[in-house]
Amino acid sequence: MEAQHTMVNCDDCKQDFSLTSIEQKKLDNGVERNYFICPHCQRQYTAFYTNQKVRRNQAKITALGREVQHATTLNKSNRLRKQIEELSEDNKREMDRLKREFDSEE
Ligand SMILES: [Zn+2]
Repeated sequence: MEAQHTMVNCDDCKQDFSLTSIEQKKLDNGVERNYFICPHCQRQYTAFYTNQKVRRNQAKITALGREVQHATTLNKSNRLRKQIEELSEDNKREMDRLKREFDSEE
């Protein structure tokens, strides 16, 4: 997660606010909804969903990222980057799927 603060414009009250924190709420089957709240009108926005698989992949990506920094050969570094890319793609698909599944319940 990037530390940089993103400015968001609220759909409801049309005021800007800076995205400083993302809240988590546990749903069924290990799924977590990550969301943020407009400080002006309290409207909730879903940022993304994760499940155990996604969080496991994220942990792997972080670990691989550290390994890349310590990779001694270009070959190894490229192989690690490829793994990170594949895990990221996998996560993107899984998170899209979760979003479709859970957004319809709101
Ligand atoms: Zn608002």
